[in-house]
Amino acid sequence: MQKKGTRVFDRTQVASIKTTARSAQLTTDTGMSIKAKYAVVASGYESQRWLRQRVATNLSSYAYITDPIDPDELGWLANTLLWESARPYLYLRSTGDGRLLVGGEDDDHDIPARRDRSVDRKAATLQRKIARLFPHLHAEPAFAWAGTFAETGDGLPLFGPHPEHGPRVLFALAYGGNGITYSMLGAGLLRAQIERRKHPLTALFAFERLA
Ligand SMILES: Cc1cc2nc3c(=O)[nH]c(=O)nc-3n(C[C@H](O)[C@H](O)[C@H](O)COP(=O)(O)OP(=O)(O)OC[C@H]3O[C@@H](n4cnc5c(N)ncnc54)[C@H](O)[C@@H]3O)c2cc1C
Repeated sequence: MQKKGTRVFDRTQVASIKTTARSAQLTTDTGMSIKAKYAVVASGYESQRWLRQRVATNLSSYAYITDPIDPDELGWLANTLLWESARPYLYLRSTGDGRLLVGGEDDDHDIPARRDRSVDRKAATLQRKIARLFPHLHAEPAFAWAGTFAETGDGLPLFGPHPEHGPRVLFALAYGGNGITYSMLGAGLLRAQIERRKHPLTALFAFERLA
């Protein structure tokens, strides 16, 4: 982006967004303003602050990582990404240095202190599940953590304009567990909208489906 002339302003917060029929004007917390034909709000879970309508629910997700495991013990798991699609789901993958990363056990806690108190218990549950699936594996947690995770009601992301801001502000809300994949789809979708081209996923990912 920078090579193509885009200027990047790190640690600079957008404090307000105003629109006219032909432009979007953003003001930063340091008082600078940016005028553009379109603004794309790609501020992750913070994006909800720009919308009065609640569009997603915050969940908590838990994960732990082991110390490096002997390659013979790790076996085929060294080259495998595993996702059990049950609810709550379970996923695991190995790292370059032979550790096992295990995650899942999502719940609807949205209070960070309460969530953080659950980390050890959740890691123990994840470990029990791994032990059931792979009884030979010594996969004890070396470090465990939790993170906030937002999901829409139908699990699909939201891309495009919202009536509250009009057509000059486009939202890129790749919420849900497939956020990285959705981000790629969304980039193409929003570009098509700015270039006024049709895109097959426009309606599927639009805010209108929430109404
Ligand atoms: C615990 C957890 C596990 C996940 N697991 C997976 C997974 O396995 N697979 C998967 O595909 N996805 C997963 N995701 C989702 C994935 O991480 C996200 O979808 C993706 O990172 C979203 O990228 P983004 O660029 O939209 O937002 P972010 O990466 O959140 O970036 C938003 C940026 O906007 C900035 N910002 C916020 N407000 C302002 C403001 N007012 N002004 C200026 N800047 C602002 C923030 O500082 C941040 O840098 C997971 C997410 C979490 C939290």
